[in-house]
Amino acid sequence: MNKEPVPRAGAQPKYGIMRQAQFPPNTAFFRFFEELNDFLPLHKRKTRFEYAFDGTPSVKDAIEALGVPHTEVDLITVNGASQGFDCRLACGDAACVYPLFESLDISPVVKLRPAPLREPAFVCDVHLGSLARLLRLAGFDTLYRNDYSDNAIVEIASPGKRCILTRDRGILKRKAVVRGYCVRSTQPREQAREVMLRFDLRGAMKPFSRCIGCNGTIGRVDKESVLPLLPEKTRECYHEFYRCGSCGKIYWQGSHYAKLTSDIEDLRNAASAKDPSPRSLTPP
Ligand SMILES: [Zn+2]
Repeated sequence: MNKEPVPRAGAQPKYGIMRQAQFPPNTAFFRFFEELNDFLPLHKRKTRFEYAFDGTPSVKDAIEALGVPHTEVDLITVNGASQGFDCRLACGDAACVYPLFESLDISPVVKLRPAPLREPAFVCDVHLGSLARLLRLAGFDTLYRNDYSDNAIVEIASPGKRCILTRDRGILKRKAVVRGYCVRSTQPREQAREVMLRFDLRGAMKPFSRCIGCNGTIGRVDKESVLPLLPEKTRECYHEFYRCGSCGKIYWQGSHYAKLTSDIEDLRNAASAKDPSPRSLTPP
């Protein structure tokens, strides 16, 4: 059954003079910017396209129906005005959807994502064990178990205490999820680089401060206190020891140390290779 199109009350369309008869019922327009296009089919990327809907869905519902998790979105404009996730779509609306602006101050408009955590803290889904170990190596508080259920991950992260890292955008569409990032790459090192860039973590690195195995914090201990636990050659060759406060694992600067140091430097360098150019707020 056809309905008459209902324009938004008081709306001032940005795209020229729009009359009700110009649009089929319940059609709006969307344009997604920058990396949000990763979530769209090719024919909808970096272009304005029509979106047909029933009733008056929120702009958040429409964005997620198009495949983009709300945790990826930092700014929405509808007919040129900044709007929150709960803005109701009306026929003829033109929505622009933007990701995080790294170098453009958008503080005068509605920012949708919460302020960054004072101390970065993550929970990785069951497929991101290697990423979790790299983040721990760099000193970031990162929970991971290979038997976490999706519900457990959401519960651990709520309410906004930790950021969920996942390649499953379905988790990020859940209402209870406040902080999250959909990891694009399938390669752990590239994944770590993505996370470092996305959350601007380079200056917050604290290498060798966390246990790679369990995420516990590591502290210096006297050699005498761990002597009975050390292999004979290690007792003879090494004099500086660290211990995980959670699982008790003992660390020293053995044969793996050079490799791990190299991994940390790779991360630090990758996280600084960033294009600083600001993004445009004006749709093409
Ligand atoms: Zn540990």
